[in-house]
Amino acid sequence: MSVVSHLINGELVESKRTLDVTNPSTGKVIRQVADADTADVELAISAAQAAFPAWRDTPPAKRAQVMYRFKQLLEEHADRLVQLVSEEHGKTPEDAMGELKRGIENVEYACGVPELLKGEYSHNVGPGIDAWSNFQPLGVVAGITPFNFPAMVPLWMYPMAIACGNTFILKPSEKDPSASMAVAELLQEAGLPKGVMNVIHGGREAVETLLDAKAVKAISFVGSTPVAEAIYSRGSAAGKRVQALGGAKNHAVVLPDADLENAANTLMGAAYGSCGERCMAISVAVCVGDETANRLVETMLPKIAQLKVGPGTDKGLDMGPLVTAEHRNKVLGFIEEGVNAGATLVADGRSLKVAGHEEGYFVGGCLFDNVTAEMRIYQEEIFGPVLCIVRVGSLDDAMQLINDHEYGNGTCLFTRDGEAARRFTDAIEVGMVGVNVPLPVPVAYHSFGGWKRSLFGDLHAYGPDSVRFYTRRKAVSQRWPSVSEATTAEFSFPANQS
Ligand code: NAD
Repeated sequence: MSVVSHLINGELVESKRTLDVTNPSTGKVIRQVADADTADVELAISAAQAAFPAWRDTPPAKRAQVMYRFKQLLEEHADRLVQLVSEEHGKTPEDAMGELKRGIENVEYACGVPELLKGEYSHNVGPGIDAWSNFQPLGVVAGITPFNFPAMVPLWMYPMAIACGNTFILKPSEKDPSASMAVAELLQEAGLPKGVMNVIHGGREAVETLLDAKAVKAISFVGSTPVAEAIYSRGSAAGKRVQALGGAKNHAVVLPDADLENAANTLMGAAYGSCGERCMAISVAVCVGDETANRLVETMLPKIAQLKVGPGTDKGLDMGPLVTAEHRNKVLGFIEEGVNAGATLVADGRSLKVAGHEEGYFVGGCLFDNVTAEMRIYQEEIFGPVLCIVRVGSLDDAMQLINDHEYGNGTCLFTRDGEAARRFTDAIEVGMVGVNVPLPVPVAYHSFGGWKRSLFGDLHAYGPDSVRFYTRRKAVSQRWPSVSEATTAEFSFPANQS
């Protein structure tokens, strides 16, 4: 059986230990992946450290040239990358292609790094003194990524980190490592010097070695909230710069004046696309008024019944399986609990069977009505094809509900009322907001990040914030006195005012 190896110092490196990688559409182990121990991670850190001085001194325009070639290679190899994503994650090829394209946007943004690294300059800040600030790389930085976007989320991180002059160590999800690895190998092929980009596979031991290593200056993490919080605390305590993006419970508010057909159609994709395994998936529809809720349920039920579910590698489907048996069981447990708590399960996808794929981890689309804020299915991230409807009396009630929730990643308002939309976008305590746009994922030249317990740290992912995250500012003041200029010792603090 083939093994996905580490990529260290430009070479494929085997590991003493391995983990199984499963195709979730069949439930079969299809390959293995290296499972790094501390020694493997230390090897990667040494390679990244050794590569840093020369890469730091490489002109940004030359670093950008590698990114241009990388973008071209990603486009040339798109079909193979999509196939790897679908095979190990289970999302449909069309969905995987969407993720890859959004990832490539980040490489395009990194191609502009010479412009993005331009500093600030002030002439004559004091007599004969000029001052400027510029942005310098940090050194070795690391990224730890989740299973649900194996191509895109790593591309949120390392194109910009590397374009800024850092060297990088990626620890992708052990559940679907092949696409993350294949993408990184293309960057190597694009002409990157050895050791600038490294990939180590594995789990907790690998991550903790990165967190504790003195040589690693910054950590970008994307994953679930409990792990994000632990990584933020441990990494910060070790003196690192850390951004840790966590889980979510994203609400869509439907006002009585909304175009219901449009809301229902777009909610279908936002709730059930990728089997609900997106951190920006809409998992709660907050309906203002019983009539709005009744109409939304009526409009969505036939659409849910028609969802095309099957193996992730097939084209023309709406949804594949969940990622692992363990995760499928967790999602089924939530559904059971929702029923026991008194929510009305108006669409029940639990008994769905996909012919020829009886061992796959499939769950059909589920819709709960009459969900309340006390229920666990409302409070926690289910990360499956389960949409909860909560009925409220007003927009204010809807906003209060959202603002009281522990997560604040994404949200959306469906309405035709501009005044309501303005109030919502202004006062809602969520990092990414849509108006009639249920998946308001910012494009690569903006930044991505939630509020509250959806993000630990200050700077958001990718876009302009990533240039700041992966660099530190240096302020320089410079004076070149002429040889004939007399200087005297000055003991008071220098100031321009007389
Ligand atoms: P996860 O937290 O289980 O794993 C994420 C990464 O952390 C993986 O590389 C994993 O190997 C590692 N890891 C897991 N447990 C660890 C531990 N105890 N110590 C150290 N490292 C550990 O997340 P997942 O299941 O892979 O991904 C799904 C989660 O990611 C969801 O909660 C989803 O909302 C979230 N997510 C968030 C965003 C965002 O931008 N906010 C984007 C994508 C996914």
